[in-house]
Parts: sequence; C-alpha cells; structure tokens
Amino acid sequence: MEGRRLHLVSLGCPKNRVDSECLLGRLLEEGWTVTADPGEADVIVVHTCAFIRPAVEESLETILELARWRAHGPCRRLVVAGCLPQRYGADLARELPEVDLFVGVAEVARIPTLLDAEDPGRVHVGRPADAFPGATPRAGRWAAHAAYLKIAEGCHRRCSYCIIPRLRGPLHSRPLAALLNEARSLADDGVRELTLVAQDTTAWGRDLPEGAHLADLLGTLARVDGLTWIRLLYANPLGVDDRLLEALAAGLPVLPYVDVPVQHASPRVLGAMGRGIDPARQEQVLDRLKACVPGITVRSTVMVGFPGETDEDVEALLAFVQRRRFDHLGVFRFFPEEGTPAERLPGRVPVRVARQREDAVVAAQARIARDTHRARIGCTVEVLVDGPSREHPFLWEGRLPGQAPEVDGRVVLTDAPPDLRAGQFRQVRVMRANGVDLVASLAGGPE
Ligand code: SF4
Repeated sequence: MEGRRLHLVSLGCPKNRVDSECLLGRLLEEGWTVTADPGEADVIVVHTCAFIRPAVEESLETILELARWRAHGPCRRLVVAGCLPQRYGADLARELPEVDLFVGVAEVARIPTLLDAEDPGRVHVGRPADAFPGATPRAGRWAAHAAYLKIAEGCHRRCSYCIIPRLRGPLHSRPLAALLNEARSLADDGVRELTLVAQDTTAWGRDLPEGAHLADLLGTLARVDGLTWIRLLYANPLGVDDRLLEALAAGLPVLPYVDVPVQHASPRVLGAMGRGIDPARQEQVLDRLKACVPGITVRSTVMVGFPGETDEDVEALLAFVQRRRFDHLGVFRFFPEEGTPAERLPGRVPVRVARQREDAVVAAQARIARDTHRARIGCTVEVLVDGPSREHPFLWEGRLPGQAPEVDGRVVLTDAPPDLRAGQFRQVRVMRANGVDLVASLAGGPE
C-alpha cells in the first residue's frame, strides 16, 4: 500500500474546521497518519475558504505554497476542498494544473474513498450540502479541552452581500440526537468548553420535521456531564427571542455570552443589505439581552463601505458603537462578491474611503475595549487555561468566560506553577491590560 501520511491545512471559519476534524477522523480510521510537515506528506489537503475576496486570495496563496511539495516532495496528490472549488469549480481546475483533486463542500466526506481510487477523476463538485450530517469521529481539535459543535449547515437568509447560501446551501439543521451524541463523545474525550457554530445558530431546528428551537438544544446540552462552558456564536438578531434569552440566562454551563452580528446601524444601509431588520428592532434585541441575561458578554460584527453608504450613515454607526459599548466587535469592509445582489448596487464606496471608515470604527472600539479592560485590573477572575503561550516559552494563556476562542483576546498568565494544565479553571488576579489581552497572575490552585 502506498504511503498514507497526510498534511491538512484548514482555512476559514470554525464550521470549516469542524468539517476538517471530521475528515481527519475518517482518514485516521482508514489508516492514514497526520504530519505537520508538508515536506514529508504523501497527500496534502487544503480545506479552503472563499466567502470574500481576501479569503479567496489566502486560499490561493496557500495552495500555491503547498504545490511546491507536490513538485519536489513525496506528495503524490494535492487536494483542494471546500468553498473555493464550490465557488469556482471547473474554472479553478483550469487555472491550477498543479492540483490533482478538487472537492466541493458536500463531497469532502468522499476524500478517503477518492484517495484510494486508482483514477478518482479530478473535479467533484455537486450541490452544496452538509458533508458530515451525523456524528463522526473527529480528530485534530485545536485544543483537547475545547471544541466547536457545528449545529447546522447552510443558511435560509438572503443578505444581499453574502455568497454563503450559494457555497454552503440551504439551512440544514443537524438532528438533536446526533448533536447530543457528538457533545457526549467530546465531553468524554475531555472537552470542557463547547462553542456552538452555524451560519445562523438561531435558525437551528426550524427545518427539522418536529420543528425545534435553539433553546431546546442549549437545555439538552446543558445536561451533558463534563461540559463546564457552552458558548453561542453567530446568532442573527432576528432570531434572538424570549426563549433564547431565557436559555442564555439559565446559568452555567450555558455562558452569558452571545455573538450577535448586526452589520450596520443605518436604516438605509440595513435595508440595502437585505438584513430584514431595522435599527430600532436591533436596539430592542440588544437592550433585552442586557436586561434579561445578567452579566451578558456581547460580541458583534459590523461592515463598512457598503454601496451607497454616506458619511451620515457612518456617523450613525459610530454613534451606535459608542453607545452600545460591545465587549467585542469585529469590523469588516464590504467586498463586491460576483453574483450577489450587492455587487450590482450603485454608489460603490472607494477603497480608500472604506478603509478610513474601517479605521474609525476600529479605533472607537479599541477605546471601549481599553476602558473595559482597565476596569478589570486588580480583580480576581476565573479563566479556562488553554496552554503554553505560542509566543513566549515562559508564559501561559487562558480565557475569561467572556472571551471566545481565537477572536476575543486572551489572558496571559505570567507565573505558571508546575501543576498548571490546559483545561483547568483557575482563579487569576488581573495585573494589567495589553491591547485586547489581559495580563494576570495565578491567585490560587486549580478549581
Ligand atoms: S445570515 Fe446573512 S450574512 Fe449570515 S450566512 Fe446567512 S445570508 Fe450570509
């Protein structure tokens, strides 16, 4: 049998990462081993992202970088999977002769079979669908104590700038039983923090025959032994209703944390974006979150530079950001993605102006984050220890309950005692703030 050493690069969002972990789980079952060194891999897989232009560029750069090993190493197959082939299909195959196999979003699960086929063909891109609808063994998690749970694939909404429904297909919720099984096996495997992800987590269950609500899922997962933190990302404001507020306020393991992307605060821009919500309703949702969920941490996302956006619209957005004081805020620039309604809208904002607007919102949020962090100096808080710092050998990292993995900053731990372990919950004393990070020292032994 030919060599079965695999090197996999997973780009893009946590949903893509979950699919990569499922693919790895399947490949390990088939006798493949994983290598971090592309130079010694027999097969290289790039699981791509393509929802906006910068993601497309990053995927192409990564493919061309790894193609060197296809030409000069033991690598006998270079596989490009996921959203980039889903978006460009045969055109991509023509542009990238150095790639052996192109596999769409739904066909990712077929990679083990295709790799063992004598002549698997070159392009396998069908209708977008969930590649791993049921519980699947997963491997290669970013941490032993934390994991993402993809609760649904695709999206039923039609925001005018978004290409995701075309890449990932219509909403497809994973059944409660499969999610419960997956959560239990992750918890049995040492996961303490479970982060729920989907294109729009609030839509979970609306397409299931029995019609279910995200609150049911949160309530069910809260009873899984071993889970200490359950976190909710990607909650469309339209789906934040009283049942969800109740579930978020129910107490641990459900964290008082929500990521609720609002995108803008100008009624005209929200209308042109096709968000189906007006600023007043968004304010109401955010007010209810604060009023109904004690100690809630709110992350959000906004986009600037949308066609037709005026200085007044940006003033409205800046005033909104300064008034709402989000705990965490992602700021993006609009990109005209071909085939979206927004691509054809008049009033394109020059890139230079869009960048200035992005910088203004980022600066406003940085001031808010700095004040929020300063207020924590001297406090003793609980953190989930993630492990040794990637940047500094003598430092460790952890996160507050209000810090989601990879996006909300971290707590840098200066004095790691010998008994410190990833996955522990520890009390720490905040000593200072450092940008989006906090710096702290341990205040006691493991919880
Ligand atoms: S909710 Fe809108 S922005 Fe989000 S994935 Fe769906 S269509 Fe795209």
